[in-house]
Amino acid sequence: MHKRVIIIGSGPAGYTAAIYTARANLNPLVLGGTQSGGQLMITTDVENYPGFPEGIQGPELMEKFRKQAERFGADIQDTDVTAVDFTEIPFVVRSGEEMHTADSIIIATGANAKWIGLESELKLRGRGVSACATCDAFFFKGKNVFVVGGGDTAMEEATFLTKFAKSVTVVHRRDTLRASKIMQKKAMSNPKISFLWNSEVSNVLGDKHVTGLEIRNVIDGTTRAVPAEGLFIAIGHEPNTILFRGHLETDDHGYIIVRDHTKTNIDGVFAAGDVKDSRYRQAVTAAGSGCEAALDLEKYLEAHPPKQEIESEITSSTTH
Ligand code: NAP
Repeated sequence: MHKRVIIIGSGPAGYTAAIYTARANLNPLVLGGTQSGGQLMITTDVENYPGFPEGIQGPELMEKFRKQAERFGADIQDTDVTAVDFTEIPFVVRSGEEMHTADSIIIATGANAKWIGLESELKLRGRGVSACATCDAFFFKGKNVFVVGGGDTAMEEATFLTKFAKSVTVVHRRDTLRASKIMQKKAMSNPKISFLWNSEVSNVLGDKHVTGLEIRNVIDGTTRAVPAEGLFIAIGHEPNTILFRGHLETDDHGYIIVRDHTKTNIDGVFAAGDVKDSRYRQAVTAAGSGCEAALDLEKYLEAHPPKQEIESEITSSTTH
């Protein structure tokens, strides 16, 4: 099936791009993945998305995005893209046996927070375990929380958490931080932040919500339980760009490099949201970026009319 535009991904960036391109009569096809909706599908209360003064559940917010895109005619399919070929126009996007072609593409496949990988961490996600202090710090007013990681994100999250939490303990697996000196200094001089060096979280304790952590000393292997009311994992993010490696320019961390806002190194291929943004990573910034990509793509398509339109223009000019 040939389309003017295919959007790959279905988080806030993908759905917003779908709303804008659908309203521009471009009949977008959205290949949203079998786990459509992006990171907000695993988020409970969203209180910082404008327009919802009482807050909203992540999945409900995504359902609203989706319905809005469908209302204007976006064709949203919950299938995974398995391969792409951007070497010539039309671009090719494969989903298993199915092949789609398009004149333009928006990539909005997002990024996922890395997790430690503990069963207990998964069980208590959204119940004291989080990977986003900006989203969830508010729920930890006056509580004792822990942050795992030693990079800039961990320092930033720990510092931000001190605005709400009673105490913040950073658990780092080595005895030196990876974070930039300035961020280290800021965190270390904050009286609410303390550090557990050469340590890792080996288990998250609690049934319905986090009540403690099992901390393992990586030098001598000993473990001990400490009381805790929250655990923030800040060990980095992984952009979902494996499919595009070799086709699109990515930075050292795998994020798509854009120039001029949303343009990738291939004319006609645009990127929006967390897949190209390691800095802000918010639903609202991703949505804004989806809008930008759609507007950039509209301009691109205006300058690149469909082949049959060019052919009919040539025919009519030669017959007159
Ligand atoms: P990062 O620099 O890769 O740091 C990840 C940290 O998590 C490291 O300290 C690492 O330990 C630790 N870690 C990784 N896997 C772990 C595991 N399984 N268990 C326990 N600890 C683990 O990631 P980041 O902090 O997210 O930063 C990513 C990039 O964004 C960096 O370039 C950073 O400078 C940038 N950033 C900048 C700002 C800012 O300037 N405001 C804010 C945030 C991020 P080791 O040190 O032992 O490897």
